[in-house]
Parts: sequence; structure tokens; C-alpha cells
Amino acid sequence: MTVSSTAEPDQLLQQLRAENDILRERLAYLIEQAERNHDIMCRHQAFDLEIVSAATFPELVGTIFRVLPVISELDVVALALIDEGADIHTVMHKLGVDFDDFPSLMFVESRGELGPHVAAHGTAMIPPRPWLGPFDEAVHGPLMPQRPAGIRSVALVPLLRNKRLIGSLNLGSTDPTRFTPQLGTDFVEHMGSIIAICLENVISNEMLKYIGLTDSLTGVYNRRYIDRRLLEEIQRARRQAYCISCMYIDIDHFKSVNDSVGHQAGDEVLREVAGRIKDELRLSDCLARFGGEEFVVLLINADLDSAVTVAERIRAGMLRTPFEISTGSQIAVTVSIGVATLDDFDSDNSTEVVATQLLAQADSALYQAKQSGRNRVVSFL
Ligand code: GH3
Ligand code: MG
Ligand code: MG
Repeated sequence: MTVSSTAEPDQLLQQLRAENDILRERLAYLIEQAERNHDIMCRHQAFDLEIVSAATFPELVGTIFRVLPVISELDVVALALIDEGADIHTVMHKLGVDFDDFPSLMFVESRGELGPHVAAHGTAMIPPRPWLGPFDEAVHGPLMPQRPAGIRSVALVPLLRNKRLIGSLNLGSTDPTRFTPQLGTDFVEHMGSIIAICLENVISNEMLKYIGLTDSLTGVYNRRYIDRRLLEEIQRARRQAYCISCMYIDIDHFKSVNDSVGHQAGDEVLREVAGRIKDELRLSDCLARFGGEEFVVLLINADLDSAVTVAERIRAGMLRTPFEISTGSQIAVTVSIGVATLDDFDSDNSTEVVATQLLAQADSALYQAKQSGRNRVVSFL
């Protein structure tokens, strides 16, 4: 601060006051900025905690898309994940994730599809850094499929796990000065690394969950899954008063299939049987390998007549063409099927008891099918 020594005392006082006011204003501005930064930091810490505790894939991506645009005042938050062979997409779909809920989520086959600013900048040795700059429709448009008009600047944040690129977080703003090459990238890098850890974590958890619910030989659900699903479906069917039917399917004389073509060829037959059963089912139906050479099908909203019709189609599907084994031999396979329906909505029995009864009825019908000559459908009456 400089004060003229020749100034009159009044003038001097005025000058001092004016400078004091300027200082006060600057201080107020700095305090406001500090409070704002503190506020942003708190919101981001809360966001970090929320995504770290997300237990499932939809919960995690849902939180990212819902919260990040608000706390970071962004006009676009999009996520692209590298999913070679579409394994992640397939498993999430099978676990019931509805991708229509996440229009800003993309799966790409390879890093090249993440565009030149993410993919080309890194190599196996040097991981890519965030790229900040003006929005370019041709380059950035495909990375932000759901964006409002007027995006002017973007930040493309590589998502890395152990130096491996797993995708990119693509942020956009209508403010051209929001992301410029001169800006530091520490903040977005931190955000990218937390999101990458959380993504890897939930994806591997979901994969494990999926493995625990499916049969590794045939790829259909396993017994653990169908036992749980049956309880849920019975509860829903009783609430909404519609029938569900259950089918017990057992391959006929499978022991002699193994004996004649070998255990490995037997495994091929099991896979093919699962595939042929699936061909006859609706998306809402549920197929599981119950163990050995036995399968269970749950038909939602199907009475006994329609379940028997489906069972007959499954039986006929086995006979249509012989099974081709990779060793070159052909083999005829038949199945026996027991069908039972739950249509007693007034029973006081617990869901567990009803589930056990339904399976036992289908099993008893299957036993009758075996007793009366195999290759047939019998319903429990
Ligand atoms: P039935 O018509 O009365 O059902 O006769 P079956 O021979 O099919 O029935 P059984 O229960 O006597 O034999 C089932 C056979 O299924 C015996 C077992 O070796 C075979 N098996 C069970 N699990 C597998 C598997 O994972 N792979 C193969 N290849 N065979 C299996
Ligand atoms: Mg059996
Ligand atoms: Mg059998």
C-alpha cells in the first residue's frame, strides 16, 4: 500500500478507507472461494464414500451418473468400458442389469475405440493421462452419446488398474473454459482412479456372483440359483394370482451314452440338451441344471396345459436330429419329463413348503414317465 506524503489528512483518510474497502472485498472473495472449495471437497468426499460402498454394478454406475453431474456441475458424464469378447456385458445382462437405465454407459471391444486422446497417448509402458480441451464433435461425440447441445469443453479421463486401461470417464461442459489444456489434472486423475478401483471391484464381485449361480459345463443356471428363484417366483405368483409350472427333465439311459461314446462326449451331449431345451423357452422362463443329467425348468405364468405343450416341444426337439459328437459319431438322445403346476393360491403353507411340494410333484411325474417307458411327458394330477 502506498500513501502519498503530500496529501491532506482528509484525503489521506479517504484514500486509506478506499484501499481498506478493496482489501475487505478481496478478503471476502477469497473466503467465499475457500468456502466454495471446501464445499466441493466435502461433496466429493461424500461421493467417494458412496461409490466405494456401492455393492453392485448398477448401483455404482447409477451413482456416478446421478451424483457426479450435480456435484461437479457437469453437463455430461459418460463412461466407456473396454469389454473384449463382451463378457462383462453378457454377465451383467444375465444378472438382470437393464442397460436402458444407463444411456451414457458404453462397452467397447478395444482401447482403440476410446478415441485418439485416450487410446493413442498411452502404450503398454506409459499409461495415458487425462486429456482436457475443446469439444470436437468427430472425436468426442461418439464417447458422449447422450449429450445436450452446446458442449464446448471436455475432460477424457483414462480409467487405469495396475497401469492397464479399463475404460474412460468422459466429462463435458457447455463452459469453454471449464476444461483447458493449461488446467492441472490432479483432481480428475484422483476421481478417475477411485472410479476405476470401484468399477474393477464391483465387476469382479458380479462375475463371482454369476459363477456361483451358473453351471460351468452348460452355462445355464445351477441348483442354488433355481432354489432361490423358485421362492421369489412363488411369492410373486401367489401375490398376483397366476400359475407357475415346473418341469423336471432327465436324460434317458444317459449312463449308456457315457459308456458308448465316453464321458467327454457325454458332456457335449449335456451341453446340447441344455441348448435344445433353451430353444423352446421364453425369455421369462428359467432353466437350470439340477445336477448330473437332470434339468429343471420354471415356467412363469403358465398353466399345466401350456407347460405340457412346451414339454412336448422339448421332447420332440431332442428327436428332430441326432446329436453330433465332435469325434464324428452321431447319437440319438431322448428325455423324460415330469410337469407340475402351482395354482392353489389359497394354501396357508409357507413359500418353502410350496416350493418343495412343487418340485416333488414334478419329480414324481418324472418317475412315472420313466416307469411307463421313457421318452415321454407326464403331468402330475
Ligand atoms: P434313466 O433313464 O433311468 O435316467 O437312466 P440314466 O442312465 O440316465 O440314469 P442314471 O442315474 O443311472 O445315470 C446317470 C448318469 O449320468 C450317470 C453319470 O455318470 C452321468 N453323469 C452325471 N453327471 C455327469 C456329467 O457331468 N457328465 C457326464 N458325461 N455324465 C454325467
Ligand atoms: Mg437322473
Ligand atoms: Mg437319466
